[in-house]
Amino acid sequence: MDIKENLNRIKATLPAGVRLVAVSKTHPADMLMEAYNAGQRIFGENKVQEMTAKSQVLPADIEWHFIGHVQSNKIKMMAPYVSVIQGVDTFDKLAEIDRQAAKNGRHITCYLQLHIASEETKFGFSPDECTAMLDEGKWRSLQNITIGGVMGMATNTDDEAQVRREFSRLKEIFDSYKQKYFAGSADFNTISAGMSGDYELAIQAGSNMVRIGSAIFGERNYNLDK
Ligand SMILES: *Cc1c(COP(=O)(O)O)cnc(C)c1O
Repeated sequence: MDIKENLNRIKATLPAGVRLVAVSKTHPADMLMEAYNAGQRIFGENKVQEMTAKSQVLPADIEWHFIGHVQSNKIKMMAPYVSVIQGVDTFDKLAEIDRQAAKNGRHITCYLQLHIASEETKFGFSPDECTAMLDEGKWRSLQNITIGGVMGMATNTDDEAQVRREFSRLKEIFDSYKQKYFAGSADFNTISAGMSGDYELAIQAGSNMVRIGSAIFGERNYNLDK
């Protein structure tokens, strides 16, 4: 696995304005360091303990994105250093992130995870739940978080048309939220969608942040995806 070569190959295909999250879950810190030395600064992890341990031994200018399922009782552990919590799927979690950010004198960016796939197992707000949460408006009083965009995962299928439809749906939802709730806010600007197997489709549908793991670091030995 030549991490640097993989990164450079992928980065060369990303249009300007599309940011790359290197998904380093399950991989040891020295592999992240290789990516760091090749210029990568944004890393994504899906286990809080693992991310915290890596954050303590790796350079301080890394931007850590938590991309896993957010458990309320784990927010406290990452609040001192995490940059972005992708995959927020309830108002209560936003409120808890806000509280923990305040305690640490920090500001944390959150993305709203939307369930766009047909699979039951994927986490996230249904679009209706998310709209209801935004309509209710309580989020507007949270001073220590920024809602920076949306995040979604397409169905794991060979049916390209379905994957395109799902990513396009996410883009439509983003556009409608931008207009309805975040007009005039430069902060709501990110559509996080696309992984190793489908990021080209995601970008074509409007994604401006891809989360790529195995195409950079190789296959994961053990499966911590859930
Ligand atoms: C593991 C993971 C990825 C990266 O998956 P690859 O197929 O290895 O690129 C992206 N997003 C989330 C939420 C993940 O859990």
